[in-house]
Amino acid sequence: MSQGRPVRLLEETSITSTRLASLTDRLERSQGASSIDVESPVTGETLASVPASAPETISAVVEESRTAQREWERTPFGERAAILERFADLVVANRTELLDLIQLETGKARIHALQGILDVPSTCSYYVHNGPAVLADDRRQGAFPLITDAVVTKDPVGVVGVISPWNYPMMLSITDAIPALLAGNAVVCKPDERTPFAATALADLLEEAGLPAGVFQVVTGEGGTAGSALIDAVDYVAFTGGTETGRAVAERAGRNLIGCSLELGGKNPLLVLEDADVAQAARGAAAAAYTNAGQLCLAPERIYVAERQYEAFLQAFLEETRALTLGHAFDFGPDIGSLIDVDHLERVDQFVTDAKSEGATVLTGGRPRPDIGPCWYEPTVLTDVDPTDRIACEETFGPVVSVTPVRDTAAAIERANDSPYGLNASVWTADRDRGRAIARQIECGTVCINDGFVAGWSATGTPMGGVGDSGLGRRQGPEGIDRFLEARTIATSRVGPFAFPSSLPPQLVVRALSGITAVQRRLRRLGR
Ligand code: NDP
Repeated sequence: MSQGRPVRLLEETSITSTRLASLTDRLERSQGASSIDVESPVTGETLASVPASAPETISAVVEESRTAQREWERTPFGERAAILERFADLVVANRTELLDLIQLETGKARIHALQGILDVPSTCSYYVHNGPAVLADDRRQGAFPLITDAVVTKDPVGVVGVISPWNYPMMLSITDAIPALLAGNAVVCKPDERTPFAATALADLLEEAGLPAGVFQVVTGEGGTAGSALIDAVDYVAFTGGTETGRAVAERAGRNLIGCSLELGGKNPLLVLEDADVAQAARGAAAAAYTNAGQLCLAPERIYVAERQYEAFLQAFLEETRALTLGHAFDFGPDIGSLIDVDHLERVDQFVTDAKSEGATVLTGGRPRPDIGPCWYEPTVLTDVDPTDRIACEETFGPVVSVTPVRDTAAAIERANDSPYGLNASVWTADRDRGRAIARQIECGTVCINDGFVAGWSATGTPMGGVGDSGLGRRQGPEGIDRFLEARTIATSRVGPFAFPSSLPPQLVVRALSGITAVQRRLRRLGR
C-alpha cells in the first residue's frame, strides 16, 4: 500500500517508504477495506495505514491458520526448532531495521528497543532446548499396577491468539508465540493498532526462516472488534495489556471455554532496607523505573525506604533522575524516549496533577516536554504521597515514582502488599538471604533482590506473571509452553475390562473393590 505524502521521519532511518509499504501490503492482501492511520509519536506524522479488520476477516485468517496447523503439528520437533533457530539468527542480523521500526512506532529510546529485540533469540534458544522435555510423553502410574498402564500425551491446543500491547510491540508479540509454535500450534497475532509494524516484520522473518504459510499470521484492527473476533475464533488466547481489558478478554475466553493467560498491569513496589547500599539502590531504582519511560509492566512506581536511609537514598535517586537525558535519535544517545501518544501523556500528567492536589510534592520533573516532541514527559519524583492517593494505588505507566519513608522492614512489606496488583517487586539489602526471606512475604509473581526487574525477566527458565489484578497464568519457563498444550491420558488394561460379572453377589464386589483400593494405597505409600 503506498502513501500519498513522503514521511520525513523515515529519512533518519534505514526504513524506506517501499519497505513500509511492503509491510502494510502483507496485511492488506487478506483483509478488509477500512483502515487505521498509524502515527509516529516522535513527530505525529502518519507513517502508514493498516486494515481495520472486520470480524469475518479475522475468522477467515484463523481458519487459514487452522489448516496450516494440521501439517505443522506433524512436522518433527527438530525441524520446527531449526526454523525457530534460523528466525532467531535473522532477528539478530536484521536488528538495525527492527530497532528503527520499533523506534518509529513507539518513539522509545533505542536502548529500550534493543531490550525487546534481544529477548527474541534468548526465548527461542530456551524453548528449542527445554521444550522437548515438556512435550514428551509422560508415563504415569496406572490404575492397577502391573495390569494397567497410563501415558500422558501433550498435543498442541490448535490456533493460539496473541493479543499484544504497544509498549514492547516486538517482544510481546513473539515471546508467547515462540513456545506456542514450537509446541505445534499456529499463531494469529493482533498487535495494538498503534504499533502494528514490529509484529508484521517478524512475520516476514519467520517466513524467510522457513515457517510454512499460515502458521504465524498478523491481523490488525481495533481491540474491541478485531481482538474480540480473534478470541471467538482461536483455541487459546495469550493476552498482555491493561487489567480492565484483561477482564474483558478473560470473560470472553470463559464464554468460549478456551484457556487464556493474562499478563496485566502492576503497581510495583521497590523496598530499600536499612542495610542497603544506597548508591547502588538509587542507580538500580532509576534504571528500572524509567525503562521505556516507565511504560513497562514490571517497572517500580512505589519506593519505600527505611527511615534511616531515606534522605541519602532520596538525594541519590534525585541525582540519578536528573542526570537522564531526554530526546529522540535513531541511535543510542538519549536515555528517555517518548510516551506512546498524546492521550497517554495527558493521562500521566493527570496522575501528577491529582497527586499534587492530594498533597504530594514534586521534587523533580512533573511536566510534559513539547520542546522535544509531542509526547515526552519528564522523569518525575514525588514525595508526601499518602497510601490512599490515586498515585499510590493505580498504575501510572509513565516515568513517575513516589518515594516514602517507612519505619522498619515489617512496615515496608505491609506497604508493598497493600495493593490489588502483584506483578513484580524489588528488595535492596546487603544480606541476600534476608532479601530472599522477605521476598517470600511479598505477594507478587516475581521478586528481584538487588535488581529492579531484569534478573527476574531475563531468567527465561522461570515463570513470569502476576497475582491478583496483575493477571493469570505464566509465560516463560516450562509453564510458558505447557499452557499451549492439551494433556491427554491413554490408559491400557492388560487383562481386559474392569467389570465384575453380573452374577457376582454384591458383597463380593464390595469386598473385591475394597481390597483393590487397599492394595493401591499400599503401593502408593511404597512409591510404586
Ligand atoms: P489495552 O489493554 O486496552 O490494550 C492491549 C491490547 O488489547 C491491544 O492490542 C488492544 O487493541 C487490545 N484490546 C483492547 N480492547 C480489547 C478487547 N475488548 N478485546 C480484545 N482485545 C482488546 O491497553 P491500553 O493501551 O488501553 O493501556 C491501558 C493501560 O493498560 C495502560 O495505561 C497500562 O496501565 C496498562 N498496560 C499494561 C501493559 C503490560 O505490559 N502489562 C501493556 C499496555 C498497557 P487496540 O489497542 O488496537 O484497540
